[in-house]
Amino acid sequence: MKHLAHELIVSPGGKVKLADIDPADTHGATKARADLKLKKNCERLSVLQYLLYAEAKRALLVVLQGIDAGGKDGTIKHVMTGMNPQGVDVTAFKVPEGAEKRHDYLWRVHKAVPESGKIGIFNRSHYEDVLVVRVHGLAPKSVWSKRYDQINDFERMLAENDVRIIKFLLYISKDEQAKRFRERLDDKSKNWKFSQSDVKEREYWDQYIEAYQEMLRKCSTSDAPWYVIPANKKWFRNLAVSEIMLHTLESMDLKFPKPTADLKEITFE
Ligand code: AMP
Ligand code: MG
Repeated sequence: MKHLAHELIVSPGGKVKLADIDPADTHGATKARADLKLKKNCERLSVLQYLLYAEAKRALLVVLQGIDAGGKDGTIKHVMTGMNPQGVDVTAFKVPEGAEKRHDYLWRVHKAVPESGKIGIFNRSHYEDVLVVRVHGLAPKSVWSKRYDQINDFERMLAENDVRIIKFLLYISKDEQAKRFRERLDDKSKNWKFSQSDVKEREYWDQYIEAYQEMLRKCSTSDAPWYVIPANKKWFRNLAVSEIMLHTLESMDLKFPKPTADLKEITFE
């Protein structure tokens, strides 16, 4: 079986049609085995994170995008569990305010890029500036349409400076979103997650799909590939994200640095 990383990647320069992807797809996986695999993957991720931290030369940036209730928070909770909090920075990007508004849109993003040795998780990202901004006309087309190239340049610069980048679009169906909204309304412990604007955003579903597609087509690069994760099934989403993160970290050939002293020469009382 092909590795999920190869099945779910958006080939750079390739055409991608979200309508051709089934958000409920599980690529032949079953829940019971996936849950076991996720547990193993989390253990291995923890080992590789330790190596990345020890090597302290490179960073990994994980970008999460997805429609409201798409599972960005859940992915962070379930996949990043087991990693040492000291080595992970999670940044959630909200509506820009204050100094963020007085700078270019990449300013706040660049500041949040993980330093060497760390894993950075973006819960939403600079892609909002070609998604919500485009869908709601928060900037004119002449402004947002230039951003695809700007983002590719920015990400290439990061890649050339030892930041490995992987990007996940968590893709759920409109029905699944309705189901999750209903849960947020029915479950008292989830009420706080519900916002009126989520319902408003739902009316723009088709425009979001169009914006996602253009983002995937223009910004999946060899430096910073996009992966579309069928995310109706939370267990598959977690499995797929963990597999691709592992695949990426394994491919980095991480090594412990050489000790800074001749250990044989060291004596102490
Ligand atoms: P949440 O992730 O549910 O906490 O919501 C954050 C909100 O901030 C979402 O509605 C995003 O679309 C919005 N947001 C994030 N970045 C931007 C941006 N650059 N411009 C406008 N809205 C944004
Ligand atoms: Mg929300």
